Amino acid sequence: MGINFSNSFSKVIGNGSSISFWGNTWLFNGVLRDKFSRLYHLESNVSTTVSERLRMGSSACELTANWIRVTGGRSSDELAELEGLGIRSGETLRNNLVPKKVEVFVWRVKRRRIPTLFELDKRGTDLHSVLCPICGNNIETVEHALVHCPFVQEVWSKVFDWWGLSFPTNFSFDIVLRGSFVQGDLVLGAKIWQAVEWVCGYLIWKNRNLKVFKKKCWTTPNAINEIHVLSFDWIAKRCKSKDIDWHSWLHNPSRFLL
Ligand SMILES: [Zn+2]
Repeated sequence: MGINFSNSFSKVIGNGSSISFWGNTWLFNGVLRDKFSRLYHLESNVSTTVSERLRMGSSACELTANWIRVTGGRSSDELAELEGLGIRSGETLRNNLVPKKVEVFVWRVKRRRIPTLFELDKRGTDLHSVLCPICGNNIETVEHALVHCPFVQEVWSKVFDWWGLSFPTNFSFDIVLRGSFVQGDLVLGAKIWQAVEWVCGYLIWKNRNLKVFKKKCWTTPNAINEIHVLSFDWIAKRCKSKDIDWHSWLHNPSRFLL
């Protein structure tokens, strides 16, 4: 009679353990696999259940995703769309090319949990100034300390130069989190670049702390040098599927984006 029988029913979720997250109709009139095909392709376990993928947060349903690669480009758009259906992406801030401490740092930044002067002040710490200890001109928010401070911008723009990438005009830490330049799906090259950005953010914060607590002077060449060396040390060693040598890393890293 022209009626799609299975589409005429939706499941009652219950505790979600018997509902296929991607393959059953439960959230809207259709299956997630078809509507979010890019995310589906990044799913590490296609037969996962609703109860495995969703966690009830304090204010929303959160996705506990386990992607085979980091999401970006059009798959990020799909994540945003999923959010429109009431499921917040508990975006996995994982990139196995960086040490755990870098991942933890990025996770804390995303939640604005690094102790910039502005954050400390907000939490009631008595400070004589909340101005950025590097430039002295702006309130030291997380975004300022890691992205907008002129000294920090200089470091970022040199890192973009080093990789042969143009510096985004609307640069923000959210761009850093995602691995900024990628338009399509994230491939290994993009994951490497994301790792470089994360390491860069981590070292910017480390250098800021050296300045604040050890009175060590902040210089862009020092920061850049440290980014070159540590990113190679951390990322190249973890990258099993590409042979990365120091000379190429330093002089022609963009080849690793291909
Ligand atoms: Zn500043």
